[in-house]
Amino acid sequence: MQEVKDLLQLLRNPRNIVVTSHRNPDGDAIGSSLALKFVLEKRFHNVKIVLPSEYPYDVAWLEGIDDILIYDRDQTKATDAIAGADVVFSLDYNSLSRVDKVGEAIAVSGAKIVLIDHHLYPENFADISISDYEISSTCELVYEVCKSAGWVNDLTVPALEALLVGIITDTGSFKYSFSPKTLVNTSEIIRLGGDMAYVQDKLFNHMPEKSLRLLGHCLSRRMVIYPDKKAGLIYLSKKDYIDFNIQRGDTEGIVNHLLALDVVNVAAFITEQPTIIKISLRSKGTFSVQQMASEYFKGGGHKNASGGSYYGSLKSAISRFEEAIEKYKEEIIHSY
Ligand code: 5GP
Ligand code: MN
Repeated sequence: MQEVKDLLQLLRNPRNIVVTSHRNPDGDAIGSSLALKFVLEKRFHNVKIVLPSEYPYDVAWLEGIDDILIYDRDQTKATDAIAGADVVFSLDYNSLSRVDKVGEAIAVSGAKIVLIDHHLYPENFADISISDYEISSTCELVYEVCKSAGWVNDLTVPALEALLVGIITDTGSFKYSFSPKTLVNTSEIIRLGGDMAYVQDKLFNHMPEKSLRLLGHCLSRRMVIYPDKKAGLIYLSKKDYIDFNIQRGDTEGIVNHLLALDVVNVAAFITEQPTIIKISLRSKGTFSVQQMASEYFKGGGHKNASGGSYYGSLKSAISRFEEAIEKYKEEIIHSY
């Protein structure tokens, strides 16, 4: 890979490196950031991770998580780290706008930018761009970079576990978005010492009771199905956030439950945040929710998993989703 050759050239001397990933970081964002940090430290670089916002509880067990700088928590430390960086890595996002103020700091830092990402339509902001929208996860791509760069033996057990986190979460535990190569790469990661059963247990068997109760509430009281359009929706109001004491991460994965229904090919999860409405979109089959997210909700992502936001009331955000599924109902019905 020519990009990896360029990367090795850029990293031939010890560097001050900042690894960044997107707002509301998920398992892939956190896992890829930690794994890359651990490898680069083994290669004698000085590495910090900066994220715009807090990580969810299901990854809080990962080694090294407490050293992550969170912009929302400590703006000075986060911006100072970026200002002092020779190299900034952009992991699991395709546009500096996805990291808001962190992106502004990166843009003025003068650091070389290295993108490693698997989203559709990456913007052209990096000096070295390693982008593959067909790969399962940024974690799998980081593993492939490690192989090309000759860094596999620098992958310690915590790094391997971090890689498994992103591969598992972005494929829904190997239910979608994976290829035969993903299974080969995963098998190699396990052979190197990554414990798949341990990571799956840590991710999925330590849910707070309120999260499972919240899921019950969503499924019994906040779910709307549009069978004639093969679409479904779950929504949460500000009041739900208070009543259920919902924290970051508590709503992770709720949208996927809609896909269990035969009559749902497109699923939405719409939540009323303090200042905006957030929307998560998922699809089965050929219909691209990336296009729907970008056209209706100023967002993007992947063909089968995207997100965006909306300024206005919860009710009008729901109406907008209803408009979108009305417009695309033929494509949605025949998607799968
Ligand atoms: P989720 O629904 O899990 O938050 O996000 C699903 C996918 O959509 C992720 O790959 C995420 O990066 C992308 N995504 C979520 N929200 C936004 C957004 O507001 N803008 C863009 N461009 N992508 C988003
Ligand atoms: Mn990802």
